[in-house]
Amino acid sequence: TVATIGSSLIPVINKLHDILASSGTELSDISVPQVAVVGSQSSGKSSVLEALVGRDFLPRGCDICTRRPLVLMLENRSPNSDDDRIEWGEFRHLPGRRFYDFSQIRREIQAETEREAGCNKGVSEKQIRLKISSPNVLNMTLIDLPGITKVPVGDQPSDIEARIRRMIMAHINNENCIILAVSPANSDLATSDALQIAKLADPTGSRTVGVITKLDIMDRGTNACNFLLGKVVPLKLGYVGVVNRCQEDINKNRSIQEAIAYEEQFFHDHPVYNSVSNHCGIPQLAKKLNQILEQHIRKDLPRLKAVLNSRMHAAMKELQTYGDVVESKAEQGAALLHILRRYCDDFSAMVDGKSPDMSTK
Ligand code: GDP
Ligand code: MG
Repeated sequence: TVATIGSSLIPVINKLHDILASSGTELSDISVPQVAVVGSQSSGKSSVLEALVGRDFLPRGCDICTRRPLVLMLENRSPNSDDDRIEWGEFRHLPGRRFYDFSQIRREIQAETEREAGCNKGVSEKQIRLKISSPNVLNMTLIDLPGITKVPVGDQPSDIEARIRRMIMAHINNENCIILAVSPANSDLATSDALQIAKLADPTGSRTVGVITKLDIMDRGTNACNFLLGKVVPLKLGYVGVVNRCQEDINKNRSIQEAIAYEEQFFHDHPVYNSVSNHCGIPQLAKKLNQILEQHIRKDLPRLKAVLNSRMHAAMKELQTYGDVVESKAEQGAALLHILRRYCDDFSAMVDGKSPDMSTK
């Protein structure tokens, strides 16, 4: 499997997790970052998320496919745990049932969408929650959201646009949420719904990444170079352009691996994009997200250190009440916490790029 998100961070986070677990501290003490996709309908949001996870499992298509928010909790599991099958999904609404077949996960997302939002293009703000357990992912949450539409169709109410906008805002207002603002290159980028709604939630642009999809089907003679370079709508965290599978690829069941190889070839052969290759491709987007996640963890480290410090003080206090007993449980605990704190310092040095042996760069 290709797990493109967090592949370089996983070993470091796992190490931290192991050490924290041995002191009774849960990894939940590191706040789990979220990544949400926003944009107009059929801009390619679900396609981008799927490519980032490296598995086929989301409903995609030229009609409205994502009709309820899908909260995808990626959970890292060490490979030697109770179940030797590598990856599985489990829905909140079907507790205890593990899905090993990802095409079955897609069918269940569709079925559960219909249970709540009907079969005729209706939408619902009620989330579908899906946990993916795998050794190849980083602990994080991805959120797939319905796209902005303007004209009600099927069972959609007359205020469909306002409803979807509210649904999106409810998810991206969270300061902990990284926003992928997805705009298709074959429509006017300067009037992008995605950039507009992202700006409402994140006016300073400190957590918005621009993603331009469909570079392969732009009007001939035009390209998105100025846009990718931030010359049209500047964005602090910048833009990445991608080429996902087209509808024909989906109909023909073309795999993600094939699609990524095709994308690479496309950018390599293109007379304009090959000179801005650091702004192009799903792997570049994954790399950018990795850097942002590193920053996120770095920002969270002082809090984590404070938690560890207060535990160490409590352990020291307990140790004093035992007098001179050598190698007591409490003493061992204090020693362990001391090691842990040192590990935290090393970890800070690593994310600052000062520690060569642990560097993820
Ligand atoms: P969403 O509604 O924003 O989630 O969009 P989807 O991911 O469902 O994609 C909508 C349609 O656009 C599907 O038919 C995709 O195959 C197609 N599509 C998405 N990205 C690209 C792309 O980069 N190039 C081409 N040619 N088609 C794409
Ligand atoms: Mg979608």
